[in-house]
Amino acid sequence: MKRNKIVSLPYTLEKKSLSKKYNNKYVQDQIDKIEKLSGSTISIKNIGKTSSEYKKPCICCKSEFYILITNYISIDSPLTCGTCNKSVPLYKLPKFYDFGYMPILSWETNYQACDSLQMNCEVGERWSLNQMQETKSPLSKQGLDICKQIEEQTTIPTFYYLYNYRKNSGDDKNRLCPNCKKKWTLKTQLHNLYDFKCDNCRIISTISTNT
Ligand SMILES: [Zn+2]
Ligand SMILES: [Zn+2]
Repeated sequence: MKRNKIVSLPYTLEKKSLSKKYNNKYVQDQIDKIEKLSGSTISIKNIGKTSSEYKKPCICCKSEFYILITNYISIDSPLTCGTCNKSVPLYKLPKFYDFGYMPILSWETNYQACDSLQMNCEVGERWSLNQMQETKSPLSKQGLDICKQIEEQTTIPTFYYLYNYRKNSGDDKNRLCPNCKKKWTLKTQLHNLYDFKCDNCRIISTISTNT
């Protein structure tokens, strides 16, 4: 609060992220409420970049595929473009559910909570790791279901990133898809990260670094 002003400093993916056209019903309702209570209008101003590593989000006309991926410290969108490997702002997608993206944000925060547990090592490390690397875990099921729905709405194939930190004595690269048991190793690594991709099961993953 400063003099007669209330200022908020959120991070955004793009300069126009807070543009009115992206507001869903709930955002607009809250803005209307604040404006009514305060008797003034909200103004939005870009004040610059916070990080020198800032990468612009995806601007591909049509992405080849999407990947649902996040981690415990990410502030990017949980959806990335398989073509350019950049963030896809959720407000560029058709509204997902109930005018917004609640199911995606619910999966994202669940995933980040599990990733924090396994990074901290002391509480529930094995449990959270299994949530992240087993295709049948409740966390993966939630994520895979979201991928399916994004694909239905956008017609862009959407892959689920499956974490992998199993014991690797050099044989992990020959492992088959954990779901359909078919070959899924990529001939060349994709985006300096992904080693496995199953087009049937819509799962993408990496070779374990746990050697
Ligand atoms: Zn892209
Ligand atoms: Zn498969």
